[in-house]
Amino acid sequence: RPRCLGEETVTTVALKDVSKVFRNGTLAVDNVTLDVHDGEFMVLLGPSGCGKSTVLRMIAGLEDPTRGAVLLDGELANDLPPQDRRIAMVFQDFALYPHMTVRENISFPLRLAGIEPAPRGERVADVASALGIGDVLGRKPSQLSGGQRQRVAMGRAIVRRPGLFLMDEPLSNLDSGLRAELRAEISALTRELGVTTIYVTHDQAEALTMADRVAIMRRGVLQDVGTPTQVYGRPATLYVAAFLGSPRMNLLEASVYVHLDRYVQLKLGEQSLYLPWTDIRSRAVAHYHGERIVVGMRAEALTPVVPDDPGDVLRGRIRYLEHHGHESLAFLDIGATAVVVDEMGAPVEVTEPGQRGLRRLGRVVQRLAGRPVEP
Ligand code: ATP
Repeated sequence: RPRCLGEETVTTVALKDVSKVFRNGTLAVDNVTLDVHDGEFMVLLGPSGCGKSTVLRMIAGLEDPTRGAVLLDGELANDLPPQDRRIAMVFQDFALYPHMTVRENISFPLRLAGIEPAPRGERVADVASALGIGDVLGRKPSQLSGGQRQRVAMGRAIVRRPGLFLMDEPLSNLDSGLRAELRAEISALTRELGVTTIYVTHDQAEALTMADRVAIMRRGVLQDVGTPTQVYGRPATLYVAAFLGSPRMNLLEASVYVHLDRYVQLKLGEQSLYLPWTDIRSRAVAHYHGERIVVGMRAEALTPVVPDDPGDVLRGRIRYLEHHGHESLAFLDIGATAVVVDEMGAPVEVTEPGQRGLRRLGRVVQRLAGRPVEP
């Protein structure tokens, strides 16, 4: 039966309490519930083996969920074979047909769907020009660069105008310059087409730059879902706090003492920080009165202040500085890392103890910033 042109496409996905246990007993996906909205670019992020590919493969129908429901446009799809799901998928190995030209590769799904040669050719030309591969249509995959091959794979996936586009680490076989370039192109293309996209990666830079929302997984369990700003700035779990961002978020243990209507005291070792009651962050920790919590502070949120700053500060001594060109990282004896940039905006120049910068920053005084992370 001819499909594609004019046919309704799937645009939303919902997973309800989905688990996957493989025959060997591996629990790859553990009770995941996730909604992907129409036109959204959702990234599944997590370390190798966390179950993100398995989630994608269940949406595509390549694996059966052991428990739970996969809904496509609100309808239960657990038993729908992959070819009836009207979903396009791109894998990391591209999987092009080596004996076919680029033109034939891209038009293949249209041929399968029974589309006539004339509209087929037109569609292939449109897609190829959108992807910047119009001039290599006559070549075989072996005569293409890695980036061109990936564009052909994408062309073949989108030529049927799917409503839902699944991508599993599509850039992982490319070098870093090309990755960054294609990352921007994929974002632009999927948004232009308005296609709902679910994109799997273990690369957090990819996730944070491309996603409308990121879903972070660990050992089969969904840890957090939100916009890049939300998951980076307000991580739901300690795991996400430590996983996202480089340098790693500072996670310091503190005891909480609430001084009602005045301030919340966070006792970190020998020193204390005081969050005024008017600071909304004080409300977030107030119900841990008398308990120990972990406070998360981004290194870039810790900024040196002049030593006699009267404000509420955290004091630490620099153990060593690491230069990164545009900034330096100061590793402090209180177990925290701070980003240090001098007044001119240039990295602090310090090679040995006793020199200008280090003496000046010998007693680094740090402001508390960032949000306390719940344990
Ligand atoms: P990667 O990025 O390395 O592909 P991932 O996050 O995509 O990792 P999955 O491929 O979904 O992870 O695998 C999740 C877990 O399930 C892993 O422990 C993996 O070894 C296991 N697994 C995957 N496929 C199978 C299978 N067919 N049989 C048994 N175990 C499997």
